[in-house]
This record gives sequence, C-alpha cells and structure tokens, in this order.
Amino acid sequence: MAAIDGLPPLRDVIRTHDLVAKKQLGQNFLLDLNLTAKIARAAGDLSGCDVLEVGPGPGGLTRGLLAEGARRVLAVEKDARCLPALAEISAAYPGKLDVINGDALEVDVLSHLTPPIRVVANLPYNVGTELLIRWLTPAVWPPFWESLTLMFQKEVAERIVAKPRTDHYGRLALLAQWRCDAKIVLHLPPEAFTPAPKVHSAVVHLTRLAEPRYPADGAVLSRITAMAFNQRRKMLRSSLKGMGAGIEEKLVAAGIPPTARAEEISLEQFCALARIVKG
Ligand code: SAM
Repeated sequence: MAAIDGLPPLRDVIRTHDLVAKKQLGQNFLLDLNLTAKIARAAGDLSGCDVLEVGPGPGGLTRGLLAEGARRVLAVEKDARCLPALAEISAAYPGKLDVINGDALEVDVLSHLTPPIRVVANLPYNVGTELLIRWLTPAVWPPFWESLTLMFQKEVAERIVAKPRTDHYGRLALLAQWRCDAKIVLHLPPEAFTPAPKVHSAVVHLTRLAEPRYPADGAVLSRITAMAFNQRRKMLRSSLKGMGAGIEEKLVAAGIPPTARAEEISLEQFCALARIVKG
C-alpha cells in the first residue's frame, strides 16, 4: 500500500484503536488508501469545496479526501470509538477536518458547512438510501450540495442510473435523473472491504442540475410513479386508475399508450403526464 500521507497504515490504526468492525453499524472498511484517493478524485475538484463525509470510520476515505486537496472536510460518525483515530488525521491536517459524533440521519450539518459543498460517503446501505432520498428531495431546488459521490450495493447503484425497459428501472432512477446527472464511476468487489461484505458495491456520482430536466410538480410526479411502479407489470390505464377519472385520455394527451407498462415510459413522458394531471 503506497502512503498518501505521513499517517500510519489503516490496519495499524484499526489495531491501535481496537476498531473491531461492528455489523450493526455496517462497518466494512476500505483500507487501501490508493482506492480511497481514487473515490475522492471521482468526486471532482475538491480544492475549493467543503466536503461532507458521512461515516468516516477509521478515516480511509477521509484521508483520501484530504490528500486530494479538499478545502475542508466535515465528517459525521456515529461510532465514538473512531474519534481518536479521526483526531490523529485532524492533527495531521490542521484546520481542515472537523468531526461530529452523531447520527447522520439526525445531525443538522448545514450550519457547519460553507458552499460550494460536495457530499462523499461510504455508508451502511440502508442509511445511504435514506440519506440519498432526503438529499434528492429538498424543499427547494437547487439543494445545498453540488454533487453526491456515494457507495452503494451494486444493485442499488444500478437502480439509480437505470434506463427505461431495464429490470432496475423504477422510482429511484426517475427521482435521481429528474434533477441530476447520475453515473456509476467505480465497481468494487467484496474483497475491497475489511471485513468483506456478501455483496458487490459501486460508487455513484450524482451532479445536480440547476433546474429539473423537465418541468413537473414533484409531489404529483412522485404519486404517479409510485402508483405506476407498485404494479409495474400492469398496463398504465389500470395501475393509474387511482389517479382519478379520465386517466386514459390524460395518458394519450401525454403521448403515452394506455396499454404501456411503467417500465417502458421515459422520464420525459412521466413529467408530461404529471403536468397534464396537475393542470
Ligand atoms: N468511510 C469508512 C471507510 O470507507 O472505510 C467507513 C465505512 S463503513 C461502511 C460505514 C461507517 O458509517 C462506519 O464507520 C459506521 O460507524 C458509520 N455509520 C453507520 N451508521 C451511521 C449513521 N447513522 N450516521 C453516521 N455514521 C454512521
């Protein structure tokens, strides 16, 4: 392992601070600093940005972000056992790393960050999906972040970037792609982590758009896509019955055959339908 900083290798850090991985916190650590630097590079130019890192653990990705020149990193970690290891990184990068010990689902981070802000995280997968949905659905757009670079279980990553007429296409793809460019930037096998999880992983990079790709009311779009994909094998004229009278005419007006199924419909068509339903 090539050193990217003067700090000890992560295996030594874990041994010194007795950071035995806890399954209930989803602790699968990245120990290869070349890999964590690569993930940091996938987040784009960090030199002028504050970076919000969720779940730094022993600090592998944190060190990658700092070595790649992040202006400042704010790291939120639930496990207090990691704090001494993170304090050592903070000492090696004076004024560049602040750590909050808390639950990322509860901590208010905004008061600690200065735009432009990028979010980078290798999180437990359940927390990651919940945070992603929160970050994609703020009260006002554009959101506080410029980009999200997040590790997911491979199947979830595929759901985020999926295109119509594929198995993974669904609400998550529409939600992500409506207001972001989303792409998978890295695939990782289980052995990249210690301990190795059962599943493959992938890093997704999402860049926010200034405006939604197509105009639509977010709440209406969300209701339509929920109904359509809850019964994804049914024809839309049947799965969308709950949208009220005249849904068949509205589908036609949006350029959607009423006999089509949800997975055949593009984001642009769903947005057109949402405008007609709202209108
Ligand atoms: N970033 C480190 C790495 O790449 O090696 C650790 C990744 S490990 C998959 C997930 C980390 O998230 C753990 O350190 C865990 O303690 C932390 N974590 C789990 N749930 C959390 C939560 N709700 N808020 C903040 N941190 C959390």
